[in-house]
Amino acid sequence: MKIPRRSTPTCYVGDVPVGSCHPVVVQSMTNTDTEDASATAAQVIELARAGSELVRITVNTPEAARQVAEIGRRVADAGLNVPLVGDFHYNGHKLLREYPDCASTLAKYRINPGNVGSRSRHDENFATMIRVAIDHDRPVRIGVNWGSLDPGLLTEMMDANAALDEPAEAREVMLEAIVESALRSAVSAESLGLPPDHIILSAKVSTVPDLLEVYHRLARRTDLPLHLGLTEAGMGRKGIVASTAALALLLQEGIGDTIRVSLTPTAGGDRSEEVRVAQQILQSMEIRSFFPQVTACPGCGRTTSTLFQELAEEIQRNLVERMIQWRNLYPGVEELSVAVMGCIVNGPGESKHANIGISLPGTGEDPKAPVYIDGALSTTLQGPRIAEDFARLLEDYVRRHYGGSVEAGPAHSD
Ligand code: SF4
Repeated sequence: MKIPRRSTPTCYVGDVPVGSCHPVVVQSMTNTDTEDASATAAQVIELARAGSELVRITVNTPEAARQVAEIGRRVADAGLNVPLVGDFHYNGHKLLREYPDCASTLAKYRINPGNVGSRSRHDENFATMIRVAIDHDRPVRIGVNWGSLDPGLLTEMMDANAALDEPAEAREVMLEAIVESALRSAVSAESLGLPPDHIILSAKVSTVPDLLEVYHRLARRTDLPLHLGLTEAGMGRKGIVASTAALALLLQEGIGDTIRVSLTPTAGGDRSEEVRVAQQILQSMEIRSFFPQVTACPGCGRTTSTLFQELAEEIQRNLVERMIQWRNLYPGVEELSVAVMGCIVNGPGESKHANIGISLPGTGEDPKAPVYIDGALSTTLQGPRIAEDFARLLEDYVRRHYGGSVEAGPAHSD
């Protein structure tokens, strides 16, 4: 069942619509030095090829601002038109004003209202960035982060709270200050002339309960599109689980128009992992489809040999490899469902629910693997080449159902 979304204006970031009824947008951020145009463009390309629909880059120095146009050129030369988003802190008002090529290359500016200058310069610096956005017809994300919450606003709200007969707890005041910072900044941007359909809000914190609370408040009090993400989600399993828990709960309530999963990669690790996790969250919730879903059983005492694991792994690896070509040749193939099951207990049943499924032999069963196509037993594979034979059946299914007469080439080079 389709999850109803909040009603918002549509904000175009380059050609990508964010908000309203448009698909929830996957975005990511580079971790290269933006002064190094070659490395940054390479990572933008890698993230975009992994499926990131917007890519944010740090713009923190004059040299970084100078390189933004070159990064944009390199990405375009690679045949990609992924919108670049500039992440500004402290000196964004100067960089955007002094480097017009940077301002025009970027499709959106991220402004952190806690990092636009001291109290006396805050409003003026914020206004400068908004005026550049208006001049270049660019949207902004007003991105509050609890790690850099506007100290002036927090002090003001803490003082007001302390004067109450029954003051609220400090956490409550802080959460409200995060929300207020985003909402007041949006009002300020609009009063400076930025249209509401040029504003996206985010208010990131690093724990799941706080994130839920903050976004529930935002969703009640604004109809602007919301960017979701758990800030500093962390490494590996912790980052993936915490991000999934937070984002899934909000998305299920129709809250969230674009998402980023802020994973800390291991040294030399794959930055694109954050894109794949974001896609998997949306796909698991049946909000969007990005790649065929493989239902694989976890294995148990009925699969004591390594045969099941090896076959399941080979079948999944083949699917991932083939998707690089299938994605372009066979529109809709991302909706395909494949089951790879370990024995007769649930294997045939689960396989019948998939478009194409195989029930591999468990320990002590006949070394045969029935294959089900669209709910009906199609054939039974056996012998040492079960994985290759299943790959051919899969290729054939995809060609017949998604590709008309297009030839995609052999599944294997043997
Ligand atoms: S399908 Fe069979 S092998 Fe897989 S978990 Fe269930 S009982 Fe175990």
